[in-house]
Amino acid sequence: MSDKESEIALSDQPSGTGRPSGRPSLEQPASAFGLLVMKVAFLCSPFGTSLRGSEATEAIPNLSRVSKSVISTFILLVLFSIPAFAEKPLLSTSLPIPSEIPHSIKVALMVDVPSVSIYIEGPYMVKISETAASVFESKPLQATVLADEQGIKMNDQLYPTDRMTLTVPSGSIQVGRKRYARQIQIIKKSGNKLLVVNQIDLEEYLKGVLPLEVHPDWSAEFLKAHAVISRTFALFKTLEKKDLDYALVDTAQSQVYGGSLFHKESTDHAVDLTRGEVLTSDGKLFPSYFHAACGGRTAQADQIWPVEPNPVLKGVVCNFCKGTKYWRWSLKMPLQKIEEIMHEKDYPAKNLSNIQFTARDRSGRATRVILKYKLSIVVIRADDFRAWIGYDLFKSLKAGVTVENGLASFVGYGWGHGIGFCQWGAKAQAEAGKNYREILSFYFPGSELKKF
Ligand SMILES: [Zn+2]
Repeated sequence: MSDKESEIALSDQPSGTGRPSGRPSLEQPASAFGLLVMKVAFLCSPFGTSLRGSEATEAIPNLSRVSKSVISTFILLVLFSIPAFAEKPLLSTSLPIPSEIPHSIKVALMVDVPSVSIYIEGPYMVKISETAASVFESKPLQATVLADEQGIKMNDQLYPTDRMTLTVPSGSIQVGRKRYARQIQIIKKSGNKLLVVNQIDLEEYLKGVLPLEVHPDWSAEFLKAHAVISRTFALFKTLEKKDLDYALVDTAQSQVYGGSLFHKESTDHAVDLTRGEVLTSDGKLFPSYFHAACGGRTAQADQIWPVEPNPVLKGVVCNFCKGTKYWRWSLKMPLQKIEEIMHEKDYPAKNLSNIQFTARDRSGRATRVILKYKLSIVVIRADDFRAWIGYDLFKSLKAGVTVENGLASFVGYGWGHGIGFCQWGAKAQAEAGKNYREILSFYFPGSELKKF
C-alpha cells in the first residue's frame, strides 16, 4: 500500500486474541459509519468552506480543485464499495442444543510446535492411529515427540501415522511443564509441525479454567456465575467447531486453562455446585463472552464484532464496576511509536499528525480509528488498533485521545472487549448480596439457566 494522497485504507487484518476473527459487519453500526463517510468525504472536499477547510488544505497540499475532486470521488467510491465485504457470513451467536450433549471437549495446548516433551508416571494406553487398537503400557513414559516426513517420532521410534493418542485411566499426563487429565492427542500437521490437544471432561476442564480466569478468593456466588458462563462458552465453542481437531485454545483467546495443577478448592466447589448448568436464550446456546470491566456499559456484540445480532448480547448499563481496579485507564504514546506499529502492519504512511476515534456504538466504544498523516488518511477498525497497540496497554475501546506535541494521550474506561459478563461488576454485585442467577440474568437479559 503506497503513501499517496488519496490513500484510504480499511483494515482487513485478522483479528487478535479474545474475540472472533474476520471483518466486522459494516452494516450494523450503519449510522455511525455513515457519519464517518461524511466526515472523511468532507475533510477532503474541494467545496469545504467551514472550519474543516484548513484541515483539508493541510491534508492535501498543492492539489488543484479538480485533483481534490477526483480524490474525493475515489474516496467515496472506496467507502461505498465497503458493504460488498459485508457479504461474508456473520459468526453465529445461537446454536440449538443437540439431543446428545458432548461431555468432553478438545483444547489445543500447543499449535504448530516442532516437538513436545511428554511424561506419564503410571500406566497408560497408546493408540497409534484412528483405526488401530489401543495398546496398554504399564511402564512410565518419558518421551520427546517430533514430527517426521514419514510420521510421528517418539524417542527415535518412528510411527507411520499423523495422529497419536495417549490416555490415562487416572492421574495425569505432563505436557511441557503442565499436567492434564484423561487424554492427549498429538496430531502431525503440514511442515512437520505438531498440534497437541487435551480431550477432557467439561467439568474437569472448568476446574482448570476458573482459578486462572478469576481470583479463587472472590465470593462464592461470583464463582458460581463464572462457572456457568465458562461452561456455556466452552460448550458453545465445542458445538460450533465439532468437526475440527479442537474447539478451544488454552489462552485468553478462548479461556485461560492451566490443566490439573491449578485446581483450587473454592473454584472446584463452584463448578460442582453448578454442574451441568448452562445459559440459554430462546432455548438455544449462545457464546457467553466475558471481560474484566465494562467501564459503565457493556457493548452490543454485533456492533463490535462480525457476529449475528442476538438480544441476549445487546449490552446493559453497569455501574457496579465503577471505582474498581480497572474502571479508568490512561496511556501516553509518542505518535512516532504508533507510526512504527502501523508500519509493522503494512501501513507505510509517514508523518502521523493526529488520531481520531469515531463511529462509536451505543456503549461509547469506538469502532473506527482515523489516522491523519501529512499526505494521507488511514481508517482502520478500532478493534485492530487496540490489538496492535496491545490489549494490556490499550485496555478498551471506550476511550478518547488528545494529541499534543507529537504525543498521543489516551484515556479510557474498563478493560476488555466489553461484551457480556463484566467480571468486576459481577464481583461487586455478589458482594452486595445478589445470587449467581440474578447476576447472570443482569448481564445476559432474557437468558435462562438450564441443567443437562
Ligand atoms: Zn461493569
